[in-house]
Amino acid sequence: MQIKKLPSDFEQALPVLEEIEKAGFEAYFVGGSVRDHILGLPIHDVDIATSAYPEEIKTIFKRTVDTGIQHGTVTVLVGDDSYEITTFRTESGYQDFRRPDQVTFVRSLEDDLKRRDFTINALAVDRNGNVIDKFDGLGDLKKQIIRAVGKAEERFHEDALRMMRAVRFQSQLDFTVETETAKAIKDNSYLLEKIAVERVREEFIKLMLGKAWQTGFNDFLKLNLSEYCPAFKNQRDNLAKLLKLDDLKFVDEEAAWTAIGYAMDLTPKQFNKMLRDWKVSNKSRETSVATDKMLKNFKKGNFDLWDIYSLGVDNFARTVSLCKLFKIKLDDKNLSEEVLNIPIKSSRDLAITGNDIIKILKIKPGPEIGKLMSEIEHKVVEGTVYNNFDKLAQYLLSE
Ligand code: ATP
Ligand code: MG
Repeated sequence: MQIKKLPSDFEQALPVLEEIEKAGFEAYFVGGSVRDHILGLPIHDVDIATSAYPEEIKTIFKRTVDTGIQHGTVTVLVGDDSYEITTFRTESGYQDFRRPDQVTFVRSLEDDLKRRDFTINALAVDRNGNVIDKFDGLGDLKKQIIRAVGKAEERFHEDALRMMRAVRFQSQLDFTVETETAKAIKDNSYLLEKIAVERVREEFIKLMLGKAWQTGFNDFLKLNLSEYCPAFKNQRDNLAKLLKLDDLKFVDEEAAWTAIGYAMDLTPKQFNKMLRDWKVSNKSRETSVATDKMLKNFKKGNFDLWDIYSLGVDNFARTVSLCKLFKIKLDDKNLSEEVLNIPIKSSRDLAITGNDIIKILKIKPGPEIGKLMSEIEHKVVEGTVYNNFDKLAQYLLSE
């Protein structure tokens, strides 16, 4: 197959390929960008693979950065653009089921493509648009399947993270995992425990935010991967509840976590622990916990504007989307309007300060000030007093 018209991202990078070839080496576009372009999807990063060794790349280009030179990656800067150029390589060792003990630079494209995870990710394109397809990745793109390059079992032994990558691509592309590959995942799912939680989480989040997340999540459960993830052991039935919901999308990572905690029926404390086990960032964890609280308040129908304000107005839209997912009744139109009308986002937005209170009431600094500030904050949020200096002063003096 030949791509008649290269996408603009590739075209822009052509001079880089040409420079490398002029110096007597081979260079190709590889990986996700090739796959996504053939599928008609937008491209994010353009990866280039070459027969030139990193040191050779550094003599060809003036401006380079050693991004991952021991793995063969050098970033080349051209104008305002930057390209990751990786030397063809093979890998061996994999004693920790994740990182190869040894990376060997090679001169053959085919050897490089062989070490890649799935056939659809093992395509290369030369500067004339010719697609190099050694493992029928094009056929698999057409069939919409995810198939390991070579023997699936061996490939997952080399790097167990690939099993998570399979279900995440499934979710992002709405593909099926090919039978042999799926069987190898099921047989080797236990190896996932060897992988750093952060890496698993990264793939898991991509899965949950993918356009066909239910397909990916279904296999994540069915192929036993969930059993070897933090906090998910023996939770398959609870997690499977998510599959019965309407096919809605999660608006962000926090929405996905909250939905999971809700399906597992976790207390706030258990939910917080689950997020810690997954090593979710503090910020995401706090947002998820606040969203979970708000969701449960909405479910009980037991909340007021102050609850929404104190849990963070920014969490409101996410919680409304989860209410839809879990069919929790909410007069969200009226409520949205009320929430939009909350005049402040935090106490810092109040038109009065502690010092002002001291002056207005002619009192001494002390705990009383904090109490008055909090009272004013409540009144402003509830809409009973305007957030304006004179009105707030009037209110203080009338109390
Ligand atoms: P994305 O669109 O998410 O960036 P991608 O296919 O580009 O998808 P990357 O993680 O950016 O995925 O990796 C780039 C390429 O490197 C892949 O297409 C694949 O060929 C190869 N690759 C990445 N991770 C692995 C792995 N764990 N095992 C084998 N090959 C891998
Ligand atoms: Mg990529």
